[in-house]
Amino acid sequence: MTTSGTPLDYRSDTLTRPTPQMREVMAHAAVGDDVFAEDPSVNALQNHVAKLLGKEAALFIPSGTMSNQLGVLVHCQGGDELLCETGCHIYNYEQGAFAQLGGIVARTIDGQQGLLHASQLATKIRPRDAHLVRTRLVCLENTHNMAGGRIHPYEQVKDICSWAHDHDLVCHLDGARLMNAVVATGIAATKWAQHFDTISLCFSKGLGAPVGSALVGDRGVIEMAHRKRKMLGGGMRQAGILAAAADFALTEHVDRLAEDHLHAKTLASGLAGIEGIQLMQGSPDTNIVLFQVDPVIGSATAFVEQLAHSGVKMLAVSENRIRAVTHLDVPYARVSEGLDTIKRVRDQIQNI
Ligand SMILES: *Cc1c(COP(=O)(O)O)cnc(C)c1O
Repeated sequence: MTTSGTPLDYRSDTLTRPTPQMREVMAHAAVGDDVFAEDPSVNALQNHVAKLLGKEAALFIPSGTMSNQLGVLVHCQGGDELLCETGCHIYNYEQGAFAQLGGIVARTIDGQQGLLHASQLATKIRPRDAHLVRTRLVCLENTHNMAGGRIHPYEQVKDICSWAHDHDLVCHLDGARLMNAVVATGIAATKWAQHFDTISLCFSKGLGAPVGSALVGDRGVIEMAHRKRKMLGGGMRQAGILAAAADFALTEHVDRLAEDHLHAKTLASGLAGIEGIQLMQGSPDTNIVLFQVDPVIGSATAFVEQLAHSGVKMLAVSENRIRAVTHLDVPYARVSEGLDTIKRVRDQIQNI
């Protein structure tokens, strides 16, 4: 067991629970029926997020998945094609909802550790021809989850989006963890956002709210997303209780992401010193650590199971890869305790 007996749960930053202060704010949130646009807390949150990203409007949405899919559906029609990186969330982890719901297809492009260059996209626009789908949208992900929380370098993002706009394409950002990129780079959210037509932002990841995302863009596109959200059953009523938590998270939990980043760096450098473990990237950019275990340790699933018995929870993401995500509910002060536990478990494995 870990020293205090409370597990260190690094499986995901979605595991954060509302803090006592957040619950306090939720308990006192003013509410109304948001389908009538009468929930003051939802309206306040939407204004806050739109301003934060420097756009005209924002819409509070139940999940990041719905927010991304609305981002695609407002830009594309049946027979349209979106371009995205092979490992991205929109393509891999949302059931291809754009195909199921909108008759939209995706063309994936292999990034370098999840990162794309404008030069890779240049040849990917389909000619105008009745045989072909119509290339319409570029989707980027920042930070990139499966690339280990990697930050898409600002200049590359800018180049890709300006290339796309020069070629009559639109751009959507899966910014589930955009605020991690903002804190890690010091580049303002408005600066990242100016290159995109729509941005999806999650409140329920590292920001620590229990539920919710927002889609942000110009007024026309957000009006269309509002209609489609209702179609998908995403119209909520007294959602102000949730919006108040998200608003609190935006005010109180952004700066502290720096601590999660430091935590991930410390965890990664400790892991790098353990025999049989290799980091998949150098020092992590943000709050995600990806590492590989040698066969001598066993499979990722078996190792993760043994760790969990000792009070350190992580996620096996493939046969030999493990993901650890730092967040609000795993205090930085406990990182060495976590590393000691991992070393002990690894030493208990025979034949090392
Ligand atoms: C978690 C996540 C989402 C989806 O969020 P849900 O709220 O779980 O639907 C989208 N994109 C990325 C990169 C994510 O990590």
